[in-house]
Parts: sequence; structure tokens; C-alpha cells
Amino acid sequence: MTGSTISYRYATQLRDQARTAYRQHDYDRAFELICRCQETDPTRAGEWAEAMKAIIAAAPSQETAETIKAGRRKDVIRCHCGTHFTRPHGNTSTQCLNCQTRKRLRQAGIHPDDPAHHQLTTHNQTARGRRPAP
Ligand SMILES: [Zn+2]
Repeated sequence: MTGSTISYRYATQLRDQARTAYRQHDYDRAFELICRCQETDPTRAGEWAEAMKAIIAAAPSQETAETIKAGRRKDVIRCHCGTHFTRPHGNTSTQCLNCQTRKRLRQAGIHPDDPAHHQLTTHNQTARGRRPAP
């Protein structure tokens, strides 16, 4: 099973949970779940946008709809490296976490061939349960 298949299935599960929350008039929860769908499977952006419109339209008052939009909304952004990432609505960051980290390490004078950087990378990969790069 590929990563995109897993993302598709997981996003579908989240969408089904969002539908249940919507039917129970729990629009805040439904909106939060659709935000997670966006993060999980950004390739279905059109589907998530339609779901968000429906949730906001169903929210009992304009104030509730605005609260949902302002407080919970996350935007899916495409970094220049090609990675999709989410940021809170209103945040202006244009780089994914990996690119931000790479930039900050470079600014601090730490380069990929630095032994401390290699040690840190190895530690992080091990902690995530992945095999370190050779
Ligand atoms: Zn990036």
C-alpha cells in the first residue's frame, strides 16, 4: 500500500467522521475534521473546500461561522520544495518545516556534513523508527 493510498483512506475515514459530526449539528468538530482531511490528503482540496462551505453555511449564526473560519481554519500551502504543509489561517509562512530548519541551520553555520548534524539526524530517524541514511 502506497503512502498516497494510506492518506486517501485515512482522509476518507476523517471525512466520514466529519459527516457524522455534521449530522449531529456539531459544526465546530466537523470543520476541525475537514481541516485534518486537508492536511492528510491535499490532493482532494476541491472536495474539502465544498465540505467547508457546507459546514459554514449550516452553522447556526454568522458569528459561529466566523468563529469556525477564524479559529480553526488551516490553509494548505505548497512549499517551493514541492511539499504540502498546513499553516494556521492568517499565518504568512511560505516554507515547510524542513526548509525552515535547513535555512536556520545554514544561518547558524551548521552544514549537512557537520558531524553534530549527522548525529542529530541519525538520532531523529532512529526515534521515528526509521533506519538512518547510510
Ligand atoms: Zn519545503
